[in-house]
Amino acid sequence: MDTSPIIHKTADDWRVEPNLVDYEAECRSFSWDAIGRELTGLPSGVVNIAWHAVDRHAVDGAGERIAFRFLAADTPGRPVSYAQLRTQTNRFCNALRALGVGKADRLFILSGRIPELYIGLLGALKNGTVVCPLFSAFGPEPIATRVNLGTGTVLLTTDALYARKIAKWRDRMPSLKHVLLVAEDGGTTSEPGTLDVASLLRSASDLCEITPTTAEDIALLHFTSGTTGTPKGAVHVHGAVATHWATGKYALDLHATDIYWCTADPGWVTGTSYGTIAPLLHGVTSVVDQEEFDAERWYGILRNERVSVWYTAPTAIRMLMKAGADTAKRYPLTQLRFIASVGEPLNPEAVWWGKEVLGLPIHDNWWQTETGGIMIANTPAFDIKPGSMGRPLPGIEAAIVRHREDGGVEVINEPNMQGELALKRGWPSMFRGYLNNEERYRKCFVGDWYLTGDLAERDADGYYWFVGRADDVIKSAGHLIGPFEVESALMEHPAVAEAGVIGMPDPIIGERVKAFVSLNQGFEPTEALRMELLAHARTRLGAAVAPKEIAFQEQLPRTRSGKIMRRLLKARELGLPEGDTSTLEGGT
Ligand code: AMP
Repeated sequence: MDTSPIIHKTADDWRVEPNLVDYEAECRSFSWDAIGRELTGLPSGVVNIAWHAVDRHAVDGAGERIAFRFLAADTPGRPVSYAQLRTQTNRFCNALRALGVGKADRLFILSGRIPELYIGLLGALKNGTVVCPLFSAFGPEPIATRVNLGTGTVLLTTDALYARKIAKWRDRMPSLKHVLLVAEDGGTTSEPGTLDVASLLRSASDLCEITPTTAEDIALLHFTSGTTGTPKGAVHVHGAVATHWATGKYALDLHATDIYWCTADPGWVTGTSYGTIAPLLHGVTSVVDQEEFDAERWYGILRNERVSVWYTAPTAIRMLMKAGADTAKRYPLTQLRFIASVGEPLNPEAVWWGKEVLGLPIHDNWWQTETGGIMIANTPAFDIKPGSMGRPLPGIEAAIVRHREDGGVEVINEPNMQGELALKRGWPSMFRGYLNNEERYRKCFVGDWYLTGDLAERDADGYYWFVGRADDVIKSAGHLIGPFEVESALMEHPAVAEAGVIGMPDPIIGERVKAFVSLNQGFEPTEALRMELLAHARTRLGAAVAPKEIAFQEQLPRTRSGKIMRRLLKARELGLPEGDTSTLEGGT
C-alpha cells in the first residue's frame, strides 16, 4: 500500500453540490428498489436500456437537449439531440425488423467511434437484439473467433474495415446473415453481399414500438479474456440499467447540465456502460471523439467543448504527464470539475499530477467486464488516498477473501491483508453467464461471493488497494489480453513450435505484451524471422493485442502436464524469485 499523503476534500472543492454527499448515510439507506423508482420505467414491467437512455427524454420534454457531439479530425463537430437520436435509433430498429432480425439475434459492431455505432447499438436494443461491440483495432482472427463464439447474425461495420478485416474471412463466419456497411466518406456503399446503412436508415420508418424486454432479457455481450481457452462472452441484461444509473450518479457525479467525455471505445465495456448508456440516462451531453490519443488534441477538446466531467484511463493520464505540464498550462480548463479513471492501476503520482497540473485530483475507480458497472470508486464525497481504488459504492458489498482448502472462501476481516477481491452477488448489472460456458461461470462463484480474479487489500478505513491479477492475463493500455489467444496466433506460423506470452511492466501502458517462442526444426532464430513473426501476429491479431517483443528460447519452461509456465518465464525475465517450481518439467 502506498504512503502518499491523503487528499482531503472539503465543500470548497465542489463546483456543484455532488449527488453523493454523505457516503456512510447513503450506504445505509440505499436500496435497489429505490433506484428503480428513480428510473421511472416503461409501463407493464418492460425494461429496455434504450428506452431509458433515449426515448424517456422525449417523454420528459428534454428531446432538444444534445445527446452527443461527435468530433472527427477534419470535419466540424456533429451534434445529435435526444430527439434525433430517438428517430435514428427507431429507424435502425425498423431496418433490423425489415431484415427479419429479431429478439435474441446477435448484432456485432466493428467500427470506430462514429455516430452509426451508437445508433446501431441503441437501435438494436430497442429491437431486443443482443449487441456485441468489438474493438475496431482487432485483427481478423479475434473478430472471427468472437463472431463465431457468439453466433452473430448481423455485422455492422464500415466499408474500409470490411475490406481490410472481413471480406477475405467472411466464409469463416457462417452464422452471419447480413453485413451492414457505413461508407467512411459519408456516401453510400455498394459492396456485393452487403447492405448500405445510409440507405437502410433512409427508407425505414422513424416510428417504432420497442420490443417488450424484461430486466432479465439479454442486452449485451462483451468478450473478455482469461488465462486459458477461448475468450469469454460475458452476458449482460437490460436490468443492468439500474447500475448504470446509480453509478453514473455516485461515481461520475453526472448532473443533467454536464458536458461529459468518456474516452473509452465501446469495444470495451467502459465505452458501452459509461461512454453510451450512463450519460444518456442522466440526460447529459457526451463528447465522442473519433480520433486516437494526442495530447494537444485532448486538451483542446477538454477546453473547447467545455467538458465538465471527464472519465478516462491511467495510460492516457500518463501520456498527458509525459507531454509535460507546460502543454497542459496552455489549455485552461475552467469548466472541468470532476475527473475519474478506470481500467488499470492508477499510480499515486498521477492522482497528484491531476491535482497540481489540472487543478483536480484523479478519482480512480474499479470494475470489470463481468460486473457491468463501477463497483469501487473514489467519489467526490470522501477523501482520496492516492493509489487506492476507493470504497464500494452504495448497494455494493465487497470483501477480501481467502480460499480454504475445502473449496470454500472466508472473509478476511483484519485490515491490510492480501486476498482475492470478492463481491456479494445480486447487483443488477452482474453478468448472467459466460456464453455457452456454464461451468466457467459457476467457477466464478463460491456461495454468495463472486470472485473477481483480482488480488487486493482493504485498509482499516474500508479503502481497497489493487495488488495484481490472480491469473496470467495482461493489461496493456487498458486492454485485457489473454495470453492464450496470442500464443495460438503465433503457433499458426510454421516456424513456431511453442509460445509463451507474458506482460512486461511498462511505465506508460502498464504492461507490454512479450512473447517467447521456441522454433521447429529447420528454422533459425534470425532477426528476419523475428520481424516476420511480429508482422504475422500483428496482421492476425491487430495492433491492440499483438506482442510488441518476441524473444527466441530453445525450450520454454513447462509443467509436467505440459502447460507453459508463464509465471516462471516472467520471474526469470524480471529477475524475481521463481517461487514454487515443483511442477516444472524436469524439476524436482
Ligand atoms: P476489463 O474487464 O477489461 O475491464 O478488465 C478488468 C480488469 O482491469 C480488472 O479485473 C482489474 O484487473 C483491472 N482494473 C480495472 N480497474 C482497475 C483499477 N482501478 N485499478 C487496478 N486495476 C484495475
